[in-house]
Amino acid sequence: MKIALLSDIHANLAALRAVLDDVDAVASGAAIWHTGDIVGYNAEPNEVVMLLRERGAVGVMGNHDAAVLGELDLSWFNAAAAAAARWTAAHLTAASATWLRALPKISEMGDATLVHGSPREPLGEYIVDAAGAHENLVSLSTPILFHGHTHTPAHWTLRAGRATSVAIDGAAQPLHAPSLVNLGSVGQPRDGDPRAAWVLWDRSDDGSALGALGTVTWRRVAYDIARTQALVRAAGLPESLATRLAVGA
Ligand code: ZN
Repeated sequence: MKIALLSDIHANLAALRAVLDDVDAVASGAAIWHTGDIVGYNAEPNEVVMLLRERGAVGVMGNHDAAVLGELDLSWFNAAAAAAARWTAAHLTAASATWLRALPKISEMGDATLVHGSPREPLGEYIVDAAGAHENLVSLSTPILFHGHTHTPAHWTLRAGRATSVAIDGAAQPLHAPSLVNLGSVGQPRDGDPRAAWVLWDRSDDGSALGALGTVTWRRVAYDIARTQALVRAAGLPESLATRLAVGA
């Protein structure tokens, strides 16, 4: 079984299309799971929701989705994020809002938990260091956690009781329990690589020594950044939201 995991798409249709093309190329027929922040920052929220619905994507709500729906106070956001949330709320169709509102904040899918930030703080916590990773690793209710929120790919596991960061090299890496798998961001990467990020979870049973939890592979995909930037500017959204896309920051 192959599962494509996407996070922080943020209304970036060009990036989502490029990722889905890559999914179809390397993992045709894979299920699509996401960990939220479908909307916010960029200018095609309804188109992104529609494409995810067409593909039967399942997942959870992010803090930007909650803010756009009026479920999270905008005082948590910086000025550019708040401006984009207000723009999105004004342009979201009723159908898109209904789909977003139905997303749970946390979801257990067999061996994996899906959440935007962390299980103890689904919309809020940024897991960025060993201390935060350790506290979450020792309290997971499933072997694996897939999450996002930081827009930076990361892989933490426990070794001899310590939270250990596993280097991400683009190759298929075996998953060990417990692990935290940060998917990075489809629509607004912040790790210095402007290409869209997604993760392939391959649980194919080919009789090899993959281990019961299979492998994860972080993929990076170039997309038409200029198209997304032009739409951000045409919508009158803050210029910083356009420029950051080119540098992945
Ligand atoms: Zn986000």
